[in-house]
Amino acid sequence: MRVHVFLDFDGTISVNDIGDELISTFGSFEPLHRLLLDRQITVAEYYRRAAASFTHDALPETVSAFALTQHLDPGIGPLVEWCRANNVPVTVVSDGFDVYIQPLLTEAGVIDEVAIHSNHLRYEGGSWIPSFPAASESCSCFCASCKRNVVLSRIADDDVVVYVGDGLSDTCAVRFADVVFAKGTLAASCREEGIPHHTYRSLTEVLIILQRRHAENDFPRRRQAVLARKRAFESE
Ligand SMILES: [Mg+2]
Ligand SMILES: [Zn+2]
Repeated sequence: MRVHVFLDFDGTISVNDIGDELISTFGSFEPLHRLLLDRQITVAEYYRRAAASFTHDALPETVSAFALTQHLDPGIGPLVEWCRANNVPVTVVSDGFDVYIQPLLTEAGVIDEVAIHSNHLRYEGGSWIPSFPAASESCSCFCASCKRNVVLSRIADDDVVVYVGDGLSDTCAVRFADVVFAKGTLAASCREEGIPHHTYRSLTEVLIILQRRHAENDFPRRRQAVLARKRAFESE
């Protein structure tokens, strides 16, 4: 049995939703975001149209410089360090973009200690093109990248899945997680679906709870999550 920690990025590791900040800084956020919230367009479509709206001053170096103006939860360093010291793999699962995740995790000094699964945004011939390597047809979630599939692909049968998130893009993955940390709309959807979870405000709180559970060897697998994983494996 191995404990594996999965972390959402926007609003979980980062203070703000940097994807939204990126789009409102370099492109047109509205009315696209409204269409997304009303489910008139998918997340992938939202990202394609948003990237197409980026202005000419959105050069790669400008975008990297913008990324570094954003703030991370100061608990990320200690959390990743504790996981490394205790042999707990950490995977960042994001429906956002590598262009800001990479520089920020590098600056936080944790880039070499985590695996990162996110969407890509590349600059080509003067335009920004998003791509979605974890797009899934086997899951009915609304996201561009399906976090459920990343979780399933990275764990062994008897692993314990710890998931930390805050939003809509995490709702499909937490159904497959044994220990859930939720805030924001994710906490609301966990309550609605009856998924037991710790509510948290900061990654420092997450670390304190993980340390306590680790000391007490208290990482039980959640029956509903084990069944959901089994069903997903069988239907793949
Ligand atoms: Mg988030
Ligand atoms: Zn999904």
